[in-house]
Amino acid sequence: MRLVLVLGDQLSPNLSALRKCDKASDVVVMAEVGDEASYVPHHPKKIAFLFAAMRKFADHLRRDGWQVAYTRLDDPENTGSITGELIRRASEHKAAGVVYTEPGEWRLIAALGDMPLKSHSLPDDRFIASHADFDAWAEGRKQLRMEYFYRDMRRKTGLLMDGDQPEGGKWNYDHDNRKPAPDSVDYAGPMQFTPDETVEEVLDLVARRFGNNFGDLRPFWFAIDTGQARQHLAHWIKGGLPKFGDYQDAMLNDHKFLYHGIVGLYLNAGLLDPLEVCQAAEAAYRAGHAPLNAVEGFIRQIIGWREYVRGIYFREGPDYVSRNALGHSRKLPAMYWGAPTKMNCIAKAVDQTKTEAYAHHIQRLMVTGNFALLAGIDPVEVHEWYLAVYADAYEWVEAPNVIGMSLFADDGIIASKPYISSGNYIHKMSDYCGTCAYRVQDKTGADACPFNLLYWHFLNRHRDRFASNPRMGNMYSVWDKMDAERKALILGQADKWLEHLEIGKNV
Ligand SMILES: Cc1cc2nc3c(=O)[nH]c(=O)nc-3n(C[C@H](O)[C@H](O)[C@H](O)COP(=O)(O)OP(=O)(O)OC[C@H]3O[C@@H](n4cnc5c(N)ncnc54)[C@H](O)[C@@H]3O)c2cc1C
Ligand code: SF4
Repeated sequence: MRLVLVLGDQLSPNLSALRKCDKASDVVVMAEVGDEASYVPHHPKKIAFLFAAMRKFADHLRRDGWQVAYTRLDDPENTGSITGELIRRASEHKAAGVVYTEPGEWRLIAALGDMPLKSHSLPDDRFIASHADFDAWAEGRKQLRMEYFYRDMRRKTGLLMDGDQPEGGKWNYDHDNRKPAPDSVDYAGPMQFTPDETVEEVLDLVARRFGNNFGDLRPFWFAIDTGQARQHLAHWIKGGLPKFGDYQDAMLNDHKFLYHGIVGLYLNAGLLDPLEVCQAAEAAYRAGHAPLNAVEGFIRQIIGWREYVRGIYFREGPDYVSRNALGHSRKLPAMYWGAPTKMNCIAKAVDQTKTEAYAHHIQRLMVTGNFALLAGIDPVEVHEWYLAVYADAYEWVEAPNVIGMSLFADDGIIASKPYISSGNYIHKMSDYCGTCAYRVQDKTGADACPFNLLYWHFLNRHRDRFASNPRMGNMYSVWDKMDAERKALILGQADKWLEHLEIGKNV
């Protein structure tokens, strides 16, 4: 007999390792282990979600006829690591070896590869593009831009295709998707589930063991099995998808979720299948329930961005997470862990991260990410923060978004220019600035929005690298037209502000 390892983000009945093995003779191993729960200080909601979903999935497998050796976190024999549990179970069951589906993280791939057990790793084919597909696409290209990869994925899946042409005549409807925040939101947000006995038991465990981690454990409302995740998906397609595209980039003080899908955590843990989700969205378009800009935008995020960042993570290798092309080294400010800040946009993004283990893409990219880049925060610290605090965070998807897209620390593999903006962008897309202690329209002075000061500080300190970037020429020509006195004033005030940040003042 063999052991079949099922990791916490592999909760899919059609997992390659399960398909390869035989429920009559092989034994599934699942384990809640300290190593995985603590290599970064994960948000308590994220840990509870995974442990509860793992327990439900183990029950599902047992009902399906599998023998499951399940280790709970507080089992006295728990060795604390995945490999430790496999070795223990192998000796208990006299197993000939272990079959597993490739993990989504180099750290775990290395640990499993080093195990003193005969093992067989299978590709994770829950993705649309295999490593070989991505490498074949990337080979020989000077730049790996997502848009061209995405078109191949549309052709491969047939999603939103009209013969060999894109539905509606265009591949990408993003220009329709940048509307500023609406006055009101007519979608109540994600479907919320009442914890059952299994979830309550896990919540008590997580409160005991991880109660001091950043993040609120309760109220806990996530779906924890495929049935619930599908109910949530149907609820969102009905109420959220139609306006998802229009307000994808908007941010509002009083609406944490706007029209977003909140499907990342379910997709990444294996409760939902990416094709199933996209097909459900396409069906809503074909039925006339949701417009093309919304459905194309959503499908692009999943078969485009999600697949593309995974391709980059595996193509670039284990050292990707430690890249620091811009040489940034400032410590992550305490405001990321909830310390008071006068910047309303940061306070709001961090607060909802604390309560929900969620912030949407533009909050991650243009608020917390933009700030970290402008202020020159060490990319490793930023990466570990994102990996810890979001319920959907796993290294294969988080690192390319943080190291590459958000911080430009990979020297432009993902982004053709840094995603930076002054306060103006946040003002245009949100209602944050109206209730902020800083004044977004002030470019200098005691109340000037810090994004306005730091924006020029960033461009000035990285002039050698970016002045010749054709997409940044306009920014530099505005800076160059300013007189020397004004430039010195802005840079001096930015330095002062950064000094206050470093010494822990409430800025
Ligand atoms: C700095 C930064 C860090 C991020 N960290 C993560 C992370 O740890 N895990 C994660 O799944 N996503 C991450 N993203 C991408 C994106 O922000 C989240 O997928 C999204 O906010 C999840 O919310 P949602 O399910 O409501 O997504 P929606 O807005 O409804 O989008 C639908 C789905 O598209 C996929 N998607 C959208 N954008 C991306 C992207 N850039 N990369 C990969 N998939 C994408 C996700 O599966 C998402 O669930 C990050 C983005 C940035 C800028
Ligand atoms: S004024 Fe600046 S710091 Fe305040 S919310 Fe607006 S962008 Fe953020």
